[in-house]
Amino acid sequence: MPDYRDFDRLNILARIEGILINETPLRVGVGREPPLGSPIDLAIYKVNDEPCIPGSSLKGLFRSYLESILASEGYKVHPPYDDESVEAEAKNGDFCVICGIFGNNELASHVRLYDSRAKSRRTFQKTGISIDRDFGSVRAGALFTEELVPPNVEWSFRMDIINIKIYPELDPEDERAKRLRSLIETLSTIGLNVGSRKSVGYGLIKLKKAKWTAYKVENGLLKKVGEGDVL
Ligand SMILES: [Zn+2]
Repeated sequence: MPDYRDFDRLNILARIEGILINETPLRVGVGREPPLGSPIDLAIYKVNDEPCIPGSSLKGLFRSYLESILASEGYKVHPPYDDESVEAEAKNGDFCVICGIFGNNELASHVRLYDSRAKSRRTFQKTGISIDRDFGSVRAGALFTEELVPPNVEWSFRMDIINIKIYPELDPEDERAKRLRSLIETLSTIGLNVGSRKSVGYGLIKLKKAKWTAYKVENGLLKKVGEGDVL
């Protein structure tokens, strides 16, 4: 029965750093109405004028991917906001693999995803007519303009894995390590779709190249214990 609470003590840390590439048009939206007078109805989320995929979006993407894998294997999965499941897990000290990785209200996350920043400011606009509720704020039948990042833009990628031993060697006793390894493999081979219009294949991102660095805490200091290529 895994109790994944390690009481905020850092023992080991693995950092993955690399490059993501979007193979299809991509828009991670701002999640609210565009600024008044904006010519674009559906704008890209940007930081300092650079398109950005927030770490929270990547974390949500990874969580729902692993949830779908576990569900397909017959495991019972619950959404992160399912308080009843979350409280039961904490009470019994028996957490599901998903919460053991991504955390819940009672358990700290064991992964940290940083914002991915586009290495190019290029975007393009597409005008369409909304035919369904796919576009959030846009009324059915209305003309709208959507801003998108064109394919083949490179993005920064950084992820920390805390107290789960995935590098230098995978801990065979820790189910979470195995799941994280397969997530990274999926991200580098078939990729995952993030942002809007996933149903038409938009937002397909792949990990192109990446390095891992593993650290261990010794006498209160982070000591590098290895590094290598993820792919
Ligand atoms: Zn859970």
